[in-house]
Amino acid sequence: MTATDPIIRIQGVHKNYGALRALDNVSLDVARGEKVVIIGPSGSGKSTLLRSMNRLETIDGGSIIVDGLDVNDRSNNINAIRQELGMVFQSFNLFPHKTVLENLTMAPMRLKRVPKHEAEQTAMELLTKVGIPNKAGVYPAMLSGGQQQRVAIARALAMKPKIMLFDEPTSALDPEMIGEVLDVMVTLAREGMTMVVVTHEMGFAREVADRVVFMDAGRILEIGTPEHFFQSPTNERAQLFMKQIL
Ligand code: ADP
Ligand code: MG
Repeated sequence: MTATDPIIRIQGVHKNYGALRALDNVSLDVARGEKVVIIGPSGSGKSTLLRSMNRLETIDGGSIIVDGLDVNDRSNNINAIRQELGMVFQSFNLFPHKTVLENLTMAPMRLKRVPKHEAEQTAMELLTKVGIPNKAGVYPAMLSGGQQQRVAIARALAMKPKIMLFDEPTSALDPEMIGEVLDVMVTLAREGMTMVVVTHEMGFAREVADRVVFMDAGRILEIGTPEHFFQSPTNERAQLFMKQIL
């Protein structure tokens, strides 16, 4: 493995739910530091693909290599692989009975044996980074959706992952809160984080995506720059999809 190898290598992946083929021969490489945005209609397999990357879903064929390790090889430590991939979901999934600070320090202390004072210092730095250091002591229910999602991003970052996966991170937010979450993601992108982002926020895609991937019915139908998708997607379904979301 060298620095120029893709940090994520997905090759010929199949995933079935009973008779339904959720992923159909999906291949995708993500370079270190690259930002990939995945778009496509509901049910096209975007979440399944993302979740396969840290084995929240098992696959029925093909392979997924993350930072040189086969995610589905049972002899590899899946917890070590998962620590390299931070994940942020549409629903914020914060621990409701823990304070914001505790949400950020729990996993590093338990899974990485980081001393408490060090975990808290990192947590405070991350809360500052996402713009809400003053919320460290409150419970998630006290926060707006946008603030909760920023805490969720900070919590994922607290494990110092090499890759961040986002699954429609702004879809559950009121419109006025979308910007504050996207701003945090743009900052992260500028710092060089490798990011795979499922989103239909094409403004975000235009600003940060190196490549946009269009999925439909479990397959990748087109890959191109954001400009390519704005101007002239080749695939007919991609054209139709772009018309609907823009
Ligand atoms: P997307 O994220 O693009 O909306 P998903 O990856 O969630 O799509 O789903 C892809 C397909 O797989 C859909 O048809 C969905 O209904 C189906 N699916 C997803 N998860 C499950 C599951 N746990 N059991 C059965 N079918 C599922
Ligand atoms: Mg989804």
